[in-house]
Amino acid sequence: MSGSIADELEELRRQGLHRRLRLVAGSQGSRVTVAGREVLLLCSNNYLGLADHPRLKEAAVRATERFGTGSGASRLVSGTMELHEALEERLARFKGTEAALLFNSGYAANSGIIPALAGKGDVIFSDRLNHASIVDGALLSRAKFVRYPHNDVAALRRLLEANPTTGRRLIVTDGVFSMDGDVAPLRELAALKREFGALLMVDDAHGTGVLGGGGRGSGEMLGVAQEIDLQMGTLGKALGSFGAYVAASRELVEYLVNRARSFIFSTSLPPAVLAAALAAIGLVDSPEGEELRRRLDRNARLFREAAAGAGFDTMGSATQIVPLFVGGAEEAMTFTARLLDKGIFAQGIRPPTVPAGTCRLRCTFMATHGEEEILRAVGVMERVGRDLGVV
Ligand SMILES: *Cc1c(COP(=O)(O)O)cnc(C)c1O
Repeated sequence: MSGSIADELEELRRQGLHRRLRLVAGSQGSRVTVAGREVLLLCSNNYLGLADHPRLKEAAVRATERFGTGSGASRLVSGTMELHEALEERLARFKGTEAALLFNSGYAANSGIIPALAGKGDVIFSDRLNHASIVDGALLSRAKFVRYPHNDVAALRRLLEANPTTGRRLIVTDGVFSMDGDVAPLRELAALKREFGALLMVDDAHGTGVLGGGGRGSGEMLGVAQEIDLQMGTLGKALGSFGAYVAASRELVEYLVNRARSFIFSTSLPPAVLAAALAAIGLVDSPEGEELRRRLDRNARLFREAAAGAGFDTMGSATQIVPLFVGGAEEAMTFTARLLDKGIFAQGIRPPTVPAGTCRLRCTFMATHGEEEILRAVGVMERVGRDLGVV
């Protein structure tokens, strides 16, 4: 690293990797206001549209009136309130596990759980495309960190054989890969974890509320939920609130309460977000939730098929996250800028979020999008994509 911050910023600009914040005015719907103009939102993880659902808002307001705005302390001090217990019980029931434990965010969950489970002498096996928070958790842990090629079960088996240990082994994967929209081979991973006596942890940030008949996530969809030792998920994406959880055995939860530093050393979630999350689970676990999932699935499918028909490479997406392959960082950013000019807000994704040369336009869908606006968006993307030589 060079000494000067200004030089480093300049270098980022030169490489087309400089990032800045974009203001979204108003509340988070399927159309939002950016730079004073209404645009179609295709880069939110608010998949079911719950972030501005009246029932969640009402629950948050009521909880604030009754319990106040803050918890005032970490969970192990005086920050465990009725709503923390109620939400953990509800999450465990929803996921069909003995217990569940809240974390303050998905980032905090991964960077706390992984170092709690694996340390010196242990080995972590992690999919190469796992989320940055998993990588950071593994780096914090001081365990041996083995990354296997994306979704490559045969390669993982070879790496498990090549890395014997008397300590613990942890296999960790995203359930739905956040930048690719494909799903992990959980059935095969569960078989490997049994064979090698490993623990299996699945990060279902993008599967929670969305996948499986009941919205219980990728484990439910693939029929292996009960074989996953730690099902982590977030409350800030499809559930429209904020925070994260891990659903697991009572023993593992008790262990994490004692060992996960991001759980122990951080002020607990405030009442408003807990109540909103509780309301969200109620909704997800109801006929209304089923209907929202059906619409979300229809929208994503419609886009995937139309985009592929227009000549785009959708990179193996099988979910509501649909990337369009672009290649270079500058083209990806130009793609985003031109679309925004035409009233479509979709995010170009560059390194370090994805490997160099695999930059993409990452489109995400919501249950609240309309079929027509999706088809219109594909038409615009096709024209811009042709201009940029992407299709
Ligand atoms: C968003 C995300 C996280 C982080 O969750 P936050 O609650 O936003 O901190 C973790 N893992 C994956 C796969 C994600 O997509």
